[in-house]
Amino acid sequence: MIVRKLTRQITLGPVPVGGNAPITVQSMTNTDTRDVEKTAAQILRLEKVGCDIIRVAVLDLAAAEAIKKIRALIRIPLIADIHFDYRLAIAAMENGAQGIRINPGNIGGKEKLAKVIAAAKQHQVPIRVGVNSGSLERDIQKKYGHPTAEAMLESALRNIGLLEGQGFHAIKISIKSSDPITTIAAYRLLSQKTDYPLHLGVTEAGGLIPGTVKSSVALGILLSEGIGDTLRVSLTRDPVEEIRVGYEILRALRIRVRGPELISCPTCGRCQINLFALAEQVENHILFFKAPIRIAVMGCVVNGPGEAKEADIGVAGGHGVGIIFKKGKLVKKVPEQRLLPEFLAELDQYEDNFYQEER
Ligand code: SF4
Repeated sequence: MIVRKLTRQITLGPVPVGGNAPITVQSMTNTDTRDVEKTAAQILRLEKVGCDIIRVAVLDLAAAEAIKKIRALIRIPLIADIHFDYRLAIAAMENGAQGIRINPGNIGGKEKLAKVIAAAKQHQVPIRVGVNSGSLERDIQKKYGHPTAEAMLESALRNIGLLEGQGFHAIKISIKSSDPITTIAAYRLLSQKTDYPLHLGVTEAGGLIPGTVKSSVALGILLSEGIGDTLRVSLTRDPVEEIRVGYEILRALRIRVRGPELISCPTCGRCQINLFALAEQVENHILFFKAPIRIAVMGCVVNGPGEAKEADIGVAGGHGVGIIFKKGKLVKKVPEQRLLPEFLAELDQYEDNFYQEER
């Protein structure tokens, strides 16, 4: 059993982070924030797959002002990501950002930081100190030579100190490297030094496969040690995939379960139906499902019926047919050409029942 390190709790709008709050899954939009329609549409898609918190880049005043309109269209808390310009941080908060991500050290000096902190206090907005291996302070880079875990820790502690020095404690911290091993080491060090909630992530992790693997290894190890209160999987992909991978990591560790789980076999020479197509179509069909349903899509009658029986709904392929199971009971034998619609109809019915029970 995983024993989670107890951190302080902050709140982003209505969503708590840290303490005994559920580990939240977040993402960042890749639209132009000034394009309110496109940005809100992307956030609404992300909400449907379970995104708990969304971050948007704020590059100029128009983007900060767009936050007000975006927030009117979405439900989840919005965090503004700002670099260098303290005025954008203040404008973002005035326009309804429920959290900001800055590096206090690069916001323009003590006086400007004081103005940002005053606005954060006034609007009750937490600040994430976002340390990134690619943008460490010059003197720290020089001291360590490379963005090591120790270098990132020093940067994080310095930036936390800047906020604490001005009486600000609604802090969340990330300390991300593009290298999973350094990321793990950095978060371990940080977790020993502070009880502020930690935002986990591997930065610039890459495309779907390398990004998923790097994030799963680093975040999986840290979460299994009880470290981490919220997470973002960074992928060079549609951010919807980031949320899906984030939930799969939490599911694999039995930390948090949301939506369906799809079990499917890799196929082998025994498979006599087009299982790849079937599994892919099922996966696409359940993308926005909410029911925590266990679905098995299996190629043959060797392991198939066993797995399919353990699932809430399962299918095992035969010679040109599929056998559909529900809660361990064989309910139908369907010719392959009718298998997909029949199976999807069963899944839809399960999801509908779940909605009705939730109401
Ligand atoms: Fe092969 Fe059947 Fe196992 Fe799928 S379930 S991998 S088809 S033996």
